[in-house]
Amino acid sequence: MPTTDVVIVGAGPSGSTLAYHLAKKGWSVTLLEEHPLIGRPVQCAGLVSQRVLDMAGTSKMVQRPMGGAIVWGPSMGKIEFAAGETRAHVISREMLDFLLAERAARAGVQVLTGWKFKDIRERPNTPDGKVVLGAESPTGPAELTTRLLVGSDGVASTVARKLRLRRPIEILPAFEADLPFRDAPQDQVEIYLGRDLAPGFFGWSIPDGEGNVRVGVGLNARNGLLALDGYRELVRRMERRYGRKLPSPIRTIVSGIPVGQVPVISTDHGLLVGDAAAQVKPLSGGGIFTGMRAAELAAGVASAALEEGNLSAQRLREYDRQWAHEMGDEMDRALFFRRLFVQLSDADLDRLLEVLKESKLISTIVAFGDIDFPTLTIRELLGQSPSLVHLFPKALSAFFRRKRGLAPDVLAG
Ligand SMILES: Cc1cc2nc3c(=O)[nH]c(=O)nc-3n(C[C@H](O)[C@H](O)[C@H](O)COP(=O)(O)OP(=O)(O)OC[C@H]3O[C@@H](n4cnc5c(N)ncnc54)[C@H](O)[C@@H]3O)c2cc1C
Repeated sequence: MPTTDVVIVGAGPSGSTLAYHLAKKGWSVTLLEEHPLIGRPVQCAGLVSQRVLDMAGTSKMVQRPMGGAIVWGPSMGKIEFAAGETRAHVISREMLDFLLAERAARAGVQVLTGWKFKDIRERPNTPDGKVVLGAESPTGPAELTTRLLVGSDGVASTVARKLRLRRPIEILPAFEADLPFRDAPQDQVEIYLGRDLAPGFFGWSIPDGEGNVRVGVGLNARNGLLALDGYRELVRRMERRYGRKLPSPIRTIVSGIPVGQVPVISTDHGLLVGDAAAQVKPLSGGGIFTGMRAAELAAGVASAALEEGNLSAQRLREYDRQWAHEMGDEMDRALFFRRLFVQLSDADLDRLLEVLKESKLISTIVAFGDIDFPTLTIRELLGQSPSLVHLFPKALSAFFRRKRGLAPDVLAG
């Protein structure tokens, strides 16, 4: 196998986006995917913003536009947001991955399916040296040589471990199932809150526009509840609401959502993008937009480093800086609000929905709602109604006991 400038491990949205941009800049790129079919198995609810379609350069994978959301509190009180326009898209995630890999292949990327990255056999000690890596190919063990190794191999990234880069602070277990169920609202995403089904996170029901709903939960593992049990509780709640049994799932997903900023995402001859680098929105668990945007940034830095023949950690650290500059504040604020959110009891959550419903704040949420930058909306809400934070004295004092000194500038908006 000849040397390629870059080997990228994992043909999800982040890896295929990076591969495409590097090939467009003239670099030889090999993209390894352990599964025989790109996009399978699906591990996603497929809710994305217009930015993702723009970055992908196509909207072929869109199944249904979404114009709003319903949030159900623990006691099943609800608030409804209807934007009257498209705010997000439900997509076929399988098709997104396929289209992005196809675009990369058209640009000249060598896509190797059924190839699993195993380990790093040799690492150079010069900035222009080569990495030798071991893989399992469909015909047996293989070696590849490259100037730059990229881990876009998802939440359980083997590349991150082999590059000795630190893992995310928290991985939230998630369970999702596709059910053939037409009774759910067709142009609204539904969010379910409550400690019995999703302590520290939330449950969701997302129509796919083809007569199915994607019903899932993510949760904080430290609460001792399994994601499958949370999912079963969510199904029970939905059954009570609809007054009938939900059909059996036709597809299930067990996965994890990385939460928390990874301090370093580049090293000598190595980079991480996407879930492998925990580039995931901490409040929603969405990582397609952030992973693809990180891939665009990584492509610029990697290309310049390849050009200069300097793949040192020091040179590649420019990628960390660009990521922090563009997304660091949003990620930090989102982590801050998430830490606050996990302190809220069910009674707090019910009360929050009540207050939002009674005040004029719903219109603020509708006006500012942006699924990629949710903290802008939260800041706007706090700016209009600073007393919101004082609704939860117990949660706040627990929070400040644990995180002294973090909050005031954020709460001041
Ligand atoms: C239940 C659930 C629902 C979600 N819903 C949404 C949503 O609605 N919207 C959203 O934006 N995000 C969502 N996410 C998050 C989103 O799925 C991820 O952030 C996104 O997939 C990250 O893309 P990626 O390319 O970084 O990694 P991945 O999509 O995980 O791709 C990694 C690829 O690497 C391959 N791979 C792994 N190890 C190896 C190896 N050793 N060798 C070769 N190949 C390897 C894998 O097979 C995979 O194809 C959801 C996550 C979960 C768990």
